[in-house]
Amino acid sequence: MITDNCIFSGFSLNPSDHLRGNEAWLSERLEDHTSRFLLYSGGRPLMDISDNLRPAYKTVDQINSIMDQDVATIDWATIDWAFMGLDGDVAFFALGLAQKIATLPHEKFIDLRSAALQICADGFDSIPALLGRGKMLLEWNGRRHFCSCCGGMTKVQNGGYIRKCIRDGCGAEHFPRTDPVVIMLVICGDQCLMGRGIGWPERNYSALAGFMEPGETIEEATRREVFEEVGIKIGDVHYKMSQPWPFPSSLMIGVFAHALTTEIILDENELVDAIWIEKQQLREIIAKNQSHPLKIPPKIAIARNLLEEWLKQD
Ligand SMILES: [Zn+2]
Repeated sequence: MITDNCIFSGFSLNPSDHLRGNEAWLSERLEDHTSRFLLYSGGRPLMDISDNLRPAYKTVDQINSIMDQDVATIDWATIDWAFMGLDGDVAFFALGLAQKIATLPHEKFIDLRSAALQICADGFDSIPALLGRGKMLLEWNGRRHFCSCCGGMTKVQNGGYIRKCIRDGCGAEHFPRTDPVVIMLVICGDQCLMGRGIGWPERNYSALAGFMEPGETIEEATRREVFEEVGIKIGDVHYKMSQPWPFPSSLMIGVFAHALTTEIILDENELVDAIWIEKQQLREIIAKNQSHPLKIPPKIAIARNLLEEWLKQD
């Protein structure tokens, strides 16, 4: 697998776009006893906590007994679900629970950030990509039960990758959205710029970031965002890496932004502080981990990848 090692990248299933539009095939997979379901409650996936943290997949029979014991089969039209992909011939689905269920002693619904950090504590793993995609698809479906064009009801299509308005005369199709965010390491020689946002814990610093605006290029968004937040002019912008960020559904676009000026003029509506940090200082922060007075983002964040990538460059 080719991966840039950002947590939430490296989705390992075959999304099978050519199959998920086939409703008959999907219906069979939903009722197939070999299919696997990943349950979510409030955006938190159900995890098996007995040994190494891993998804607590369920079969359709187990789902039937969990959902409603009085009903023989599940009415798939009444719940949020999404087809995640195939591993060989085995289909994987994400399923959102509207009600509380009784979990087994070795199972627990776990916050996705916490689960991803635990799973990747000893190195990269593709499981958070699976957990993240399921969360994004379920949350998008959950917010699109009604058409944003006419207010009519929508129904799920393409395994949860389209919602189609069923009102006569409308029929609008809606697609899962991804919100692009530029996150930039501002660089000037041997220094990089780190900011501390309003409400952040004391001494915590990270790369600057902001949502892209309609009609902007990545380069334009980077230059605008940096100038707005710290008053620094940016010249060259170099794309480095990206990261899916399922909170709720962003794509973090990581760049190196080369500063033309160095004077910091803080936008106090966005930041409480911004500082230049030298490479040597950054190495000390990473080496001392939590015992250093300054804190940088944990490995779950692309900002950390950008910092470590910058340190590799001479
Ligand atoms: Zn409509």
